[in-house]
Amino acid sequence: MKKNVATIITICFIAAIVIAVVIFLVQQQNNDVENPTPTVTPSTSHSQTNEPTQSQNITEIPLEGLNEKLADVNNPITITLNSEQLKIIDTSVSSETYALVYFPDRNISNYENGQFILKTSVFHETNNYIGTITIVSDSYVKAGCLLADKDGKIYVENSEKNQISADVSLRIINRYNPITQQQADDIEGLENLTNPWYVLDERDDLYILSHVKTAMESLLTEADRQDSSLNMHVASGYRDYASQKQSFDYWVNRRVTQENMTYEQAYDYTAGRVAIPGCSEHHNGLTVDLISYGYMLDESSKDAPYAKWLKDNSYKFGFTIRYEEGKEQYTHITLYEPWHIRYVGLPTAYYLYANNLCMEEFYETLINEGYLDFEYEGETYRYIYSKTDNIYINQNIMDIVQYSSIASGVEGYVLLCKIR
Ligand SMILES: [Zn+2]
Repeated sequence: MKKNVATIITICFIAAIVIAVVIFLVQQQNNDVENPTPTVTPSTSHSQTNEPTQSQNITEIPLEGLNEKLADVNNPITITLNSEQLKIIDTSVSSETYALVYFPDRNISNYENGQFILKTSVFHETNNYIGTITIVSDSYVKAGCLLADKDGKIYVENSEKNQISADVSLRIINRYNPITQQQADDIEGLENLTNPWYVLDERDDLYILSHVKTAMESLLTEADRQDSSLNMHVASGYRDYASQKQSFDYWVNRRVTQENMTYEQAYDYTAGRVAIPGCSEHHNGLTVDLISYGYMLDESSKDAPYAKWLKDNSYKFGFTIRYEEGKEQYTHITLYEPWHIRYVGLPTAYYLYANNLCMEEFYETLINEGYLDFEYEGETYRYIYSKTDNIYINQNIMDIVQYSSIASGVEGYVLLCKIR
């Protein structure tokens, strides 16, 4: 009997220690959470099949003390939303994932591991304003205010739809981000170049996109005005897949038959000078090769006056020198091509020029940083990287200038916004 009592006491004692340890561990875990994390619980009173309204109370959220905490800029609060909860906040968007850019505290959040973690210190005491948001999908932009009321509801107010279309001008093509033959061949909006003033050798097979043609004509007019001896002509514009393949194969064969290279050597060498079919910027209708009479599209152009002029001035018309000296490790084009100018538009061409970036470096930086701010002609601009095609920004603070997927081989989208 005594032995049994002793056993029971021992068991109770061990159980008490285990419970104490568990309590201690739970407390430790809680202490690790620097900021309180209110959990957003989807409302059961709203069915997802409901038509979205201008102002819709959607989601229950425990907001005790939220006002005070959000008002303290040094103590941002963390709100975790999963994609299902976000879908409930905006039932009209059907995509499974969202990206969020959160203002005015300039916090940006991308969808990660099935949820968004928003850290914000912004909260307007009077109207419970958390932030203004914009949803951009492939076909529309919708602006709204993300609000929380004192009853613990989170909702979107003042949403409205506008149209924005994707712009190919920021889309990168290179050896590691090729486009398909169909993408290269199905391009729309090409215009034939017929002006003998700038068409080389009276060619009739030169095409580029019409807005690029306008920019290029401004460039050529200004170059001529400054120095008529530059005398630049268009040697190449849009190329379909077959003509790029023909050119590439020609150079590979020539190097195999006349320069004693193996096929692999010839292929690698050629790929550094003539883009592999599908990897050429000439597929996008944004690119032209400009050349002065008396020069060739090779090393002889390196120090030519026209090359120097393009280097110093083409950005002013929205073009970037795509294959610059010293950028070979990024572009994988080993030949410096001062004649090859690619349209990205303004102010992007200015940004690349001023920061000495090629497009690959630009996207590497943007993807790492999430966003990049800069000034241009007295205005503030922002590039935003989003992993998904639904991105929330503050449309009361910014206007979207350009929007594009980055490349076929790169996950994500780029938005160029002008801050009001
Ligand atoms: Zn070219």
